Amino acid sequence: MPYSEDRSAWFEGQGLWQHIPASDWQDWAWQLKNRITTVEQLERFMTLTADEKAGCAFAKQKLALAITPYFFNLIDRQDPNCPIRKQVIPRAGEMMVSEEEQLDSLGEDEHSPVPGLVHRYPDRVLFLVTDRCAAYCRYCTRSRLVSNAQDYNFHPEHEQALRYIEAHPEIRDVLLSGGDPLLLSDKKLEHLLSRLRAIKHVEFIRIGSRIPVFLPQRITPELCAIFKKYGPIWMSIHVNHPKECTAELRDACERLSFAGVPLGNQSVLLKDINDDVEVMKALVHRLLRMRVRPYYLYQMDLITGGAHFKVDVRKGLEIIQALRGHTTGYAVPQFVIDAPGGGGKVPVNPDYVEKITDDEVVFRNYEGRLFHYPLKSTPRKTGVEVPLPAQGIESITVY
Ligand code: SF4
Repeated sequence: MPYSEDRSAWFEGQGLWQHIPASDWQDWAWQLKNRITTVEQLERFMTLTADEKAGCAFAKQKLALAITPYFFNLIDRQDPNCPIRKQVIPRAGEMMVSEEEQLDSLGEDEHSPVPGLVHRYPDRVLFLVTDRCAAYCRYCTRSRLVSNAQDYNFHPEHEQALRYIEAHPEIRDVLLSGGDPLLLSDKKLEHLLSRLRAIKHVEFIRIGSRIPVFLPQRITPELCAIFKKYGPIWMSIHVNHPKECTAELRDACERLSFAGVPLGNQSVLLKDINDDVEVMKALVHRLLRMRVRPYYLYQMDLITGGAHFKVDVRKGLEIIQALRGHTTGYAVPQFVIDAPGGGGKVPVNPDYVEKITDDEVVFRNYEGRLFHYPLKSTPRKTGVEVPLPAQGIESITVY
């Protein structure tokens, strides 16, 4: 059945946690303290499939299990194919490692001059400020180090990284990521942002975070005031499915937006989660309504134990083709493959161009109709003579 939804409805409320005071529910520390982190806790709320039970047993060695109560409410507990469930509840597929998969599939460690900093491109760095997240995505590119389930010995050194950035005037762009930077306390985050702002050559600061999606309660007025003070701070959030677009997330995006934070979204193309035109269309439309520009759609990285999430690249192209021209241009993300081993993001686009010669470009539009765009200017054979009053020029021919 094609995906459909009530476009005027936004999920909201405390769901399974009706009994607790609203002040607790709205408190991000309460949400973190009450995360579901064990199979026993999960089984108190739902019946796990054998596949999920096996995945949970393995999670301790791969990537910890953690789900905030807020995000758990979005799971359809009766449906093993629920797209929210598949993102955060481990499955046996995580135990299967394929030949082409790697722990550090993007070769980040090779380009790390100090712990927690990746300097691959001359003018920008990736600053991994923590190994913790509010909840753990089972397809995470950095599952080798987030949650530290794999004893990866990852200990970000903020001071060392800041000194490195200070000493490299070619760095103009710093991306704070992790783990999730918004799990740091306001004090720590303000310290990092103030230090970065004080570096004259750092022009652009951005944050990659899934906190608004897992824990919108973290987007407090105090946090927004910090962003306002040190702004502009750009932010990429990470929403994969329209069911994640709740009233709480929408309101958190509004608070960020009003604090002057431009918002983009990065989705990962995931098997049986969002590899569907109607699902993606519903998602990008909801994102625009939440003031978030769909930015990237990623082909999944080749991380160990991720094959069960992998989608054929042609499906991604089909989705982009079904969006481009069929909906608002702002709603169309760029489909990219992060080149394995560390070649950077490469755009992958549907092919609209039939041929290019010295004379013309021949291309198809979104409906598949053929058009010609001439590259040479050819004067028309007949023209209209327009008399001109200017000195020395009696007339000009307009074609
Ligand atoms: S929030 Fe980001 S870093 Fe954390 S588990 Fe999910 S994808 Fe990985």
